[in-house]
Amino acid sequence: MAFKLPALPYGQSELAPVMSEKTISFHYGKHHQAYVNNLNSLIVDTGFKDASLEKIVMEAEGGIFNNAAQVWNHTFFFESLAPEGGGEPQGDLARAIERDFGSFGKFRDEFSKAGATLFGSGWVWLVKNSSGSLDIVQESNAGNPMLRDLAPILTLDVWEHAYYLDYQNRRPDYIGAFWDIINWQKVGSRY
Ligand code: MN
Repeated sequence: MAFKLPALPYGQSELAPVMSEKTISFHYGKHHQAYVNNLNSLIVDTGFKDASLEKIVMEAEGGIFNNAAQVWNHTFFFESLAPEGGGEPQGDLARAIERDFGSFGKFRDEFSKAGATLFGSGWVWLVKNSSGSLDIVQESNAGNPMLRDLAPILTLDVWEHAYYLDYQNRRPDYIGAFWDIINWQKVGSRY
């Protein structure tokens, strides 16, 4: 069973100016697509050839893990965004953020700092742990917190390919702009 690149829930130009059409065309059209293609090539003659993406992420190692997790992470990331996004979450997620971080502003600062200080390539995640509390975790490379029994709520890609065309080396500016395109309705439904 070959995996397919999932459709974006918006047009490739619609996240501009936070993410330009050119960035999306490379990030989604080239990088995300390449992880899908690589994964399909790598699993052909393995026990994972008919497995779900989640099962591969949880059980595979090496190149199969890296490509499967990058497919999963990018799909989750792109589904967290919307052209008319931004603002703040509502409902249960908003209350949980206030409970566990003190305020939405403190959460935003802590999450942004985690993204700015992540060394090299990786992902910052808002997760729900097994006791129901929210945490912010950093993962290098293709890391995914599901492997540590943490439920992903929101993620931010801080690989250079996510921002270099629009922001060059200014990762903090990319992170600052990210808050304007978060689809809190979608993100909140994961809590
Ligand atoms: Mn990426």
